[in-house]
Amino acid sequence: MSSPPIQRALERIDLLGSISDNSNFRVRTLLSPANRRAAATLKDWMEKAGLIVEHTIDGSVRGILPGSNPEAPALLLGSHFDTVIDAGAYDGPLGILSALAAIETLQEEGIELPFPVHILGFSDEEGVRFHTTYIGSLGMLGQLDKARKAATDKDGNSLSFVLATEGWSNDASEICYQAEDVRGYVELHIEQGRVLEELQLPACGVSALVGQTRLKVIIEGQADHAGTTPMPIRRDALAGAAECIVELERLAKECESAVATVGQIEIHPGAANAIPQTATFSVDLRHADNEERLRLKNDFLKNFKFIAARRGLTLNWQTILNDDATPCDTRLTEQILDSVEATTGHRTTLVSGAGHDGVIFSRITPIGMIFVRCRDGLSHHPDEYASPEDIATGIEILVHFLRQQCTSQDG
Ligand SMILES: [Zn+2]
Repeated sequence: MSSPPIQRALERIDLLGSISDNSNFRVRTLLSPANRRAAATLKDWMEKAGLIVEHTIDGSVRGILPGSNPEAPALLLGSHFDTVIDAGAYDGPLGILSALAAIETLQEEGIELPFPVHILGFSDEEGVRFHTTYIGSLGMLGQLDKARKAATDKDGNSLSFVLATEGWSNDASEICYQAEDVRGYVELHIEQGRVLEELQLPACGVSALVGQTRLKVIIEGQADHAGTTPMPIRRDALAGAAECIVELERLAKECESAVATVGQIEIHPGAANAIPQTATFSVDLRHADNEERLRLKNDFLKNFKFIAARRGLTLNWQTILNDDATPCDTRLTEQILDSVEATTGHRTTLVSGAGHDGVIFSRITPIGMIFVRCRDGLSHHPDEYASPEDIATGIEILVHFLRQQCTSQDG
């Protein structure tokens, strides 16, 4: 039977999941009414657990357990509580509520930690409202740059305007972490993939968060009549794009651990009786090894050029995103793996194919992550699900990790 803190965590995931801006599906974006209700609910639960609770102007929340040495660098545990549109209930909230359950478990056992633990709930990680991610965690590092502050929502309002006019200013605290304030950042999250399910494991550690390159590729040919232009003299941009996309898939399959996706394509003029003049498509390329990622990028662009030249097409591309991989801290990950092994009997790490707030916190402190199995690898979907047993395992790993931190040397 699961303990009262684990039971409470399961109930809280459902309760938080019922808070939405839309009655037909789940959605909570930065400073929306539901996002603020979720923040207030989290604050309430943190207060009930005896934590010192604050919120920031962007609606992120923090609960502090001071421990026996409140001046020592703090261990940060957290995740986000905003969602994508038509989201599941676990992506984000599981990390916050598991951390709270772990703290409640230690309190029940009468264990006092020799350093403070801060439980963080970020009001925005998904970036739905402003099409820019990590607003909550960047805010807590004082690193919201000009470009992010100038990003606009669908009404044309900039983030800085929205923070000034809609921000949760009532009793807001400015939270700004420096490296010396913190001993590490640990986030528990659903895996968002099917590997743990295939391995039949409830949870694992994480070695790195992948680097990502996103390109916009533009292939230009010649629009012509579909009926009167013989096949040998056509310069069909879409047929060229199709060959490039299959070539990208082939190269990515040859490169271990790489994933490459074309998720968007647009053609012009886009008529059934016209040969496409232009084809514009996205490439999303991810790999945990930066050199491998860049090598693969150069390889496929070289082959794209070759394909375009052979077909009499012109090729151009723009780099939309080029983010290096974020390794998890080796020492912290070994400690997490000790706890994973003690709880599950296995010692496995995965690479995260998605970004998480740890990417931002890695700028100032060692980061580590715990992944919990989710059904069919599904996330960003209402059917997203992690079983109560696996959630309990995740919480037990966190509890073990915290207990172990009581005895391991500071620093
Ligand atoms: Zn998430």
